[in-house]
Amino acid sequence: MPYIGCHLSSTKGNYEMVKTAKKIGADTFAFFTRNPRGSRAKPVDEADCKRAMEALTEFGFGPLVAHGSYTMNLCTKDAEARTFAAQVLREDLERMQYLPGQFYNFHPGSHVGQGVETGIAQIADALKAALEPGYPVTVLLETMAGKGSEVGGRFEELKAIMDAVGSEDVGVCLDTCHVYDGGYDIVGDLDGVLAEFDRVIGLDRLKALHINDSKNPFASHKDRHECIGQGSLGLGFFEKLVTHPLLRDKPMILETPNELPGYAAEIALLRSKI
Ligand code: FE
Ligand code: FE
Ligand code: ZN
Repeated sequence: MPYIGCHLSSTKGNYEMVKTAKKIGADTFAFFTRNPRGSRAKPVDEADCKRAMEALTEFGFGPLVAHGSYTMNLCTKDAEARTFAAQVLREDLERMQYLPGQFYNFHPGSHVGQGVETGIAQIADALKAALEPGYPVTVLLETMAGKGSEVGGRFEELKAIMDAVGSEDVGVCLDTCHVYDGGYDIVGDLDGVLAEFDRVIGLDRLKALHINDSKNPFASHKDRHECIGQGSLGLGFFEKLVTHPLLRDKPMILETPNELPGYAAEIALLRSKI
């Protein structure tokens, strides 16, 4: 069975998030490591992290999937801004050492006209430097919708970043809305897309999923999430996904337009299909 959870607000600390997740029937969750649209981060509360880790074990949770800030663009054109983004990544991984063994997912970046190869090289450089201290975290590159100059809309681009970094501590988080928007037909041929992922990257590197329906049709490159069963992917697809033998032990995170009661209902709905 996969672990199922949703994105939670981290304002009250990690332990509160674990309790909230438990309350709504989740056994994993995601949270922003800092202000999602900025770069401010609260100081790490080590005691809170420790209590959260104990609760994760006690409740039998799967790995958490922390999310880097949306504004962190490791391949932005301006060198100073790029250095700042790389610094944010380093600090985020340093902070993750207080939640050992959890995942840290981020959007690879947008090359803003520099070209995808330059983007890949810049992302890999920053990632290499951030992984250098060897904190106990696996970093996940998120599959993107290919909106604008986003890097990571193709499996080959993620693979190129991973090859350039050359670390076992880099995996992939597959976002269902993004890959469908990006032109991978997971609705028509989920097995075929997973086989393609395996051929290009290797399924052993698939560590987590973001499970979102999409407001837009196939290959639209738009990236607008929809509630489960109300978009172009449809409930039948998610039923296939949560029962797929190759995805059995993965954390699956809802990032659908919901508040807590809506998330609780979606988690219950998905569990009812398993
Ligand atoms: Fe994301
Ligand atoms: Fe996502
Ligand atoms: Zn998205």
